[in-house]
Amino acid sequence: MRTFTISGNKQTPFLNWLAEGIIGEFLSRGYTYYYVPEENIKLVFHFIDPEKPRPYRRKAQATFVVSVMETSEKSENIHKSAYPYLIRSLANHLMYILHNDDETTDIYFLTPEQGFYKLTYRKGEEEKFFKRIYERLEPLAASQLVIDNDFYDDLPEEIWNGDEITKSLSESGKKLDRMNLLPAPFPLEEYLTPRDMRHLKKLYGIGGLSYGNLSARRDSESFWMSASGINKADMKTVGEDFLLIRGYDPDKNAMKVSVPPNITPKRASVDAIEHWMIYKEHPEVGAIVHVHAWMDGIRATEINYPCGTIELAKTVAELVRNSEEPSRAIIGLKNHGLTITGTDLDDIFERIEGKIIPQVPMS
Ligand SMILES: [Zn+2]
Repeated sequence: MRTFTISGNKQTPFLNWLAEGIIGEFLSRGYTYYYVPEENIKLVFHFIDPEKPRPYRRKAQATFVVSVMETSEKSENIHKSAYPYLIRSLANHLMYILHNDDETTDIYFLTPEQGFYKLTYRKGEEEKFFKRIYERLEPLAASQLVIDNDFYDDLPEEIWNGDEITKSLSESGKKLDRMNLLPAPFPLEEYLTPRDMRHLKKLYGIGGLSYGNLSARRDSESFWMSASGINKADMKTVGEDFLLIRGYDPDKNAMKVSVPPNITPKRASVDAIEHWMIYKEHPEVGAIVHVHAWMDGIRATEINYPCGTIELAKTVAELVRNSEEPSRAIIGLKNHGLTITGTDLDDIFERIEGKIIPQVPMS
């Protein structure tokens, strides 16, 4: 069901106008508006108070929350000023509104993956403006997360302490660090209460926001991957830093993870579904690296689907399939970063060293 609602406080005439326009656009596209949201509501526009940005308490993982806020504070680094509001309101997306003058208003769109782009509203261009908001947000809101984990404590004893592959992952993590490709993790704890942290872990399925991941195949059925939210420059422990991913359960919509007994495992990276799809389809792919950086002359996705969704995984898998050499593909993820396949980890680093552009283009 394509359902949506508006929540929170619309404190100014502009925000009221914006809410009305959004309602009109989504209704005209076949969405159903709920005054009182049902548990499985698909999309929520949540108007937050910049002084006290309270999260929308979603009941279901499938609910996509867009926080909306207005500010008149100009700042030198808008992304840096705005990003904490996305986090503090536990949203999947943030619309950050900045009025320039009487004629134009900039709306910045932010994603948890640090996507950051803007639409400018000019007075009189209402129709075009709401259409563009719909086109930007709807595909994201309609996408399906695969972030649940199903842990099995059946990892064979001989690899409880890792193997040659976890060793090479650990070295590659250090290499990414030396290449400055591991941005500092976002300090979630500084912005969130323990209760909000638990909520975030449960609904986003993340152990932290540390950006980027890497994996390497173990056999035809499984691969090792860096866990969610860990420091990839210092990966040591199986079940915590490295997880053995051995499949996807479509009935439970969860990733299957093998861990040693007697360990409280860390969560799988939200991108495990994407890596799994690529390994499954291309037996010759031996390793995958994902970084928030860019390279010239690459093919890229057209929609910035959120991390951890089937849609992002499928789109990337398709670009890998259609690339000249699927086992050595470099795919751009719009407003987000790169996914690079290789026959092994060394093969990936040989091809990217010296060619990486730290800044992801945003559009
Ligand atoms: Zn990413």
